Amino acid sequence: MTHLSAVPATEMEPECPNCKRKISHNFTNHVRFCERNNTLCPKCNEPVLKNDLENHLKDDHKHVFSF
Ligand SMILES: [Zn+2]
Ligand SMILES: [Zn+2]
Repeated sequence: MTHLSAVPATEMEPECPNCKRKISHNFTNHVRFCERNNTLCPKCNEPVLKNDLENHLKDDHKHVFSF
């Protein structure tokens, strides 16, 4: 008999405190990367690369989030 633990999906997808997205895997790596590279756009509340925020604000708020 194999031991299977049923973990609710919400517990498997913690929310990144920086970009507010549910991160289904590599949470620690994501947060580390995210805090260094991403910031929430003050206008549309979407995570964007810090380097791209200026362009993002100029460029009609197209989504530029990448892992
Ligand atoms: Zn994030
Ligand atoms: Zn924006």
